[in-house]
Amino acid sequence: MTAKLIDAHNDTASRLFWEKESLLENSFHVDLKKQTFFSSLLVYAFFMDPEKTVGFSSPLSYFDVLYDNFVKELQKNENTIKITMHAENLLRSDKQLAMLSVEGGSLIESVETLDYLWEKQIKILTLTWNDSNRLATSAVSNDAGGLTKFGHQVLTRMNEIGMLADLSHASDQTFWDVLEHTKKPVLVSHSNARALCFHPRNITDNMFRALMENGGVLGINFYPPFLGENATMETIFSHIEHFLNLGGENHIGFGADFDGVNCLPKGITDFSSFSDIINEMERRNYTTDLVEKICYKNMMRIVK
Ligand SMILES: [Zn+2]
Repeated sequence: MTAKLIDAHNDTASRLFWEKESLLENSFHVDLKKQTFFSSLLVYAFFMDPEKTVGFSSPLSYFDVLYDNFVKELQKNENTIKITMHAENLLRSDKQLAMLSVEGGSLIESVETLDYLWEKQIKILTLTWNDSNRLATSAVSNDAGGLTKFGHQVLTRMNEIGMLADLSHASDQTFWDVLEHTKKPVLVSHSNARALCFHPRNITDNMFRALMENGGVLGINFYPPFLGENATMETIFSHIEHFLNLGGENHIGFGADFDGVNCLPKGITDFSSFSDIINEMERRNYTTDLVEKICYKNMMRIVK
């Protein structure tokens, strides 16, 4: 089986740097060996953890260090994996694909920083992490204000160059502000349904309806606190089917948050568990078309 799969968010790149393990095989959730049965495109986030960036002269210099380490890992495995900025390459690549993102806009010093990141093949920017920053307010900070004037300028430039805005971690106000101003579909890379699990990191049904109207896609997150109490694989499917019931067939995918979380639902161990998830879709009589949309086609459409 070589199932095609896109996962829109993992934090493996930061762990590779801090724990000095390898992309080929490691003790984390994601490595190349665990992807053996898939032809996959994974979005590797450079996570601008405020606790880690303080040790560096600027968040941007921390990004450089994480980036250089990850690129070295990719070079060591260049026969197996390569960076892409175009998800449609998944249809023809004989290698695993890595798409790069930055999680947390704290490193954006000016609009020109976006051009620097674009040259480094950063395709996606998650506007905030848990901390609010100069661009926007975050979901868990309780800060008011939404997208700032500077954030608006940044969004405009992202639209121009083709960098995707990722609204996971954004406050509700930021979400609505971005949807009002963006000229392109947006990503909500790793969030679930607030109707099933009340958490500010998840989105409401109204937000999901607006996301559908925007043409965007949400990646289902496997972190138990965003799924619900005593989460199992069943709970992941509750969220998938909630969004399907809202008409989301063309607007959901996966953003499991592997290597960014300290626990996973019962029955999910690491990246290889996607085999069980696909089997479960088939057991539930999802059509091949629906399985393909959720596994990769929807994500491929917006990060093309
Ligand atoms: Zn995150």
